[in-house]
Amino acid sequence: LDARAQQLLEGLNPPQREAVVHEGGPVLVVAGAGSGKTRVLTRRIGWLIEHRGVVPGSILAITFTNKAAAEMRSRVASLVGRPARAMWVSTFHSACVRILRSELGQAPEIGLRRSFSIYDDTDTKRLMSMVLRDQNLDTKRFAPRALVNWVSNAKNELLTPAMTLERAESGNDQLHAAAYAEYQRRLVAANAVDFDDLIMVTVTLLASHPEIREEYRRRFRHVLVDEYQDTNHAQYMLVRELCAPAAGGGSGPQIGAPELMVVGDSDQSIYAFRGADVGNILDFEKDFPGARTILLEQNYRSTQTILSTANAVIQHNSGRPAKRLWSDAGDGEAVIGYTADSEHDEARWVAEQIDALHDQGKSDYRDIAVFYRTNAQSRALEEVFIRLGLPYRVVGGVRFYERREIRDALGYLRALANPADDVSVRRVLNVPKRGIGARAEAALELFAASEQITFGQAIERVEEIPGLATRSRNQVASFGALMAGLRGLVESGAPADDVLAAVLKDSGLVDELKASTDPQDETRVENLVELLAVAQEFVAQAHTLDLDAGLRADTGSNADPGELADELVGAMPEADDSLGAFLERIALVADSDQIPDAEPGSSGVVTLMTLHTAKGLEFDTVFLTGMEDGVFPHARALAETGELAEERRLAYVGVTRARRRLFVTRALVRSMWGKPQANPPSRFLEEIPQELIDWRRTAGRIAGWQTTASARLADSRRSLEPSGPVFGTGRGQVPGGRTIPSLDAGDRVMHPSFGLGTVVSTKGSGDSAQADVDFGSGGIKRLALRFAPLEKL
Ligand code: ATP
Ligand code: MG
Repeated sequence: LDARAQQLLEGLNPPQREAVVHEGGPVLVVAGAGSGKTRVLTRRIGWLIEHRGVVPGSILAITFTNKAAAEMRSRVASLVGRPARAMWVSTFHSACVRILRSELGQAPEIGLRRSFSIYDDTDTKRLMSMVLRDQNLDTKRFAPRALVNWVSNAKNELLTPAMTLERAESGNDQLHAAAYAEYQRRLVAANAVDFDDLIMVTVTLLASHPEIREEYRRRFRHVLVDEYQDTNHAQYMLVRELCAPAAGGGSGPQIGAPELMVVGDSDQSIYAFRGADVGNILDFEKDFPGARTILLEQNYRSTQTILSTANAVIQHNSGRPAKRLWSDAGDGEAVIGYTADSEHDEARWVAEQIDALHDQGKSDYRDIAVFYRTNAQSRALEEVFIRLGLPYRVVGGVRFYERREIRDALGYLRALANPADDVSVRRVLNVPKRGIGARAEAALELFAASEQITFGQAIERVEEIPGLATRSRNQVASFGALMAGLRGLVESGAPADDVLAAVLKDSGLVDELKASTDPQDETRVENLVELLAVAQEFVAQAHTLDLDAGLRADTGSNADPGELADELVGAMPEADDSLGAFLERIALVADSDQIPDAEPGSSGVVTLMTLHTAKGLEFDTVFLTGMEDGVFPHARALAETGELAEERRLAYVGVTRARRRLFVTRALVRSMWGKPQANPPSRFLEEIPQELIDWRRTAGRIAGWQTTASARLADSRRSLEPSGPVFGTGRGQVPGGRTIPSLDAGDRVMHPSFGLGTVVSTKGSGDSAQADVDFGSGGIKRLALRFAPLEKL
C-alpha cells in the first residue's frame, strides 16, 4: 500500500477497515450509534478514488440531509482533494431532481417537463384545499393537511391514485383516493411535483425505461447509503433499480450490478411516521443476495456512562437484535439531572449550566446542544437565552423561506420558470395589489378550465374572456405584459440574481412595502434584500464551481476506461446560475441545513433543535429537556406500543449525540396548549439506572412542592412575570410611579402578555414616546411607552 492509501485506513478498527476495502457484492454495515458508520462511508469513498482508481463521477453517496451531504463532500475533499467535486453526494431528493431534470425529455408519457416546480408543504396544502373545495368536500372533516399526509403515505408506498382506488375498502377511502387523483392531475397540469413525487417519479422512470436505468447503472458503479434504517419503500425501490443484481428487461448488453454499501442502525429508526421502514435494513440480506453484513461494536463518540444510559433505555424495546456496544473512553462524568418547577425554571437552569461550562472554559458554545421533542418548546428556552445574552441558534421553527414576502418573491420566480405553475401564478396575480379581484380570478379560472389551458395562458387571452370589467381586463393584461417581459429576461439566460432583482423592481413588490406604514413591512423589505443576497451568493458559487470544472478538464481525468461510457467519465456538475437551478437549491433546503457553520476564532453558538433533527450529529454536551410523560414520550405515543418504541429510539438517538456530558431535565408544570399541565417524569428517565444520574434537584427535595396543584400554577406563573425594579433611568414618571424606559431600535424587551420582543423603531419622547416592537409570531405592535408595561432587557 502506498502512503496515501495507508493514510485512509489509519484510525480504523479491523471491521471498519474491512468495510472500507470490501470489493464486490453488497455490504450492510449495522452498528449502534457513534460506532463510525458515517466515518466508514466517507473513508470508503476516499479509498475507492485513491486506491482503486474509481472515477469520482461514478460514485453516488446518499445522506439524510443536504447538510450531511455537504459535510461528507468536504471530508472526502480533505482526503482526496478536488476530484471529490465530481461525486454525487446528496439526499435521495436532490439526486432524484438531478435525474429527472436530465431524463424527463426521454419520458414524455410521465407528463412533466424538465422545468417542473417543486411544491413544498405549504403549496401542497394549498393545492389540496383547492381540490377539496372543488369536490365540495367539507374541509372540516377532510383537513387538507391530513389528506396531504395520506397522499404522501401512498406515494411512499409507490401507490398511484388508481391503485389506492382499487384498494379502497370504505367510502372514506374512496373519497381519499378521488382527492388524490384530482390532486395529482392538477400537479401534473401545473408541471409540478411534491417531495414524494421526486422519488416516486424517478422510480417509475427507471422501471419503465430500461435504457435510462442502464445508463445510470453504468454511471454509478458505487452506491453508498447512510442512515439506511430511515429509508421508505420508494427509496428502497430506487436503490433496487440502481443496484439490484439482475436488471432484466433491458435491451442490449447488461452491465453488472454496482457495488452497494448501506449503513444504518435499526435502533435509530425515527421516521416511521413518514413511511420509513426498518424492514429495509432487517431484510437487506434477503433483498440483496450474497450480501455481507459487517458489525461494528466499538463506540468512539461517548463515555461509557452515556452509552450505558442509552443502552439501558433502548433495552426496553422488544424484538431488537442484541448489540454489544462498548467504549474505551472511560466512565466520564455522571449524567446530571434537574427537576424544574416550570418550563421557565428549566430553561433558566439550562442556561445557567451553559454559562458555567463556558465561563469555566470547559466548553465552547458550539459544542453544546439543547434538544426537545417539539418545536414549540424552544420558546421558553429562547426567552431566557436572550435575556442572558447567550448566543444560540434554533434549527427549524419558522423558517425564512416560509415568510410571506419571501414566498411572494419566490412565487414570481416560480411562475417565470414554469408558466404552467398555476399555484404560483395565482399567488402573485394580485401581489402587490393591482386591483385584480376574486371575481376576475374566478373568470380566468373558468376560462382556463373550459379551454383546457393553464391559468397563465388564460391571462394571455384575457381579451377573449366575457363579462370582465374593463378595468380588471386592463389590469390582467398589464400583469400578463409584466410576466412576459420578465420571462424574456429569463429566456435570455440572465443569472438568477438579475432575474430576482428585476422581479423585485418591476413587480412593484418592494415599492408597495416601502410605501406602507405598517412597520412590519420594513422588515419585509430587509428580508427581500436578504433573499437577493442569497441569490447573488448562489450565482457566485455556481461560477466558482465552473472554474474548478475548467481546472479539472486541464489536468485530464483519471478514468477507468473499461468501466465507463466515455460521455459519462468524470461527469462534472455544470456551472448553472440559472433561475431553475436557484429555485431547486431553495426547494431542497431542509431544517437541518440551518445548523450554523463554525466561525473560526469565536466560541460559536449553542444549537437548539428537536430530537428528530439531531440525527447523525454529535456534541460534547447535550441537554435533553422536557423529559416528561406526555411531552417525551409524546402524549400520542403513550397508549400505543409501536409509537412508544419509536419514541424510545428517539431517546436513544438523543442520548447518543453526547460525547462527554449529558444533562436530563424535566418540569413539574409546563404550559401546553395554553394551559398549565402537571406531567409525571418521563418513563425514559426511570429506565435509566439511577446510579448513573446525579440529581441536582428532585421533586422530593423541593420544599412545599408536593402540596396543591394551585400552588404549582401560581408558582409557574410567577416565573413568567418580569421580576424586580427593571426600568432604568427613564425620561419621566408614569402614573403608577414607574419610569418610562428609554429604548432604541434593536433593544430587547419583555412584555407580560406579548412576551419577548425587539424594538424596531422609536418615536417621540417623554410622555408621547412610542415604540414599534416586533414580538415574533405575535406580530409588530406599536406601544405607547407611558402605558405599556415594557421591561428593557
Ligand atoms: P450515528 O449512528 O450517530 O450516525 P456513526 O456510527 O455514523 O454514528 P460516526 O459519526 O461515523 O458514527 O463516528 C462517531 C465518532 O467517532 C466520530 O467523531 C468519528 O470521527 C469517531 N470515530 C469513528 N471511528 C473511529 C475510530 N476507529 N477511531 C477513532 N475515532 C473514530
Ligand atoms: Mg452516522
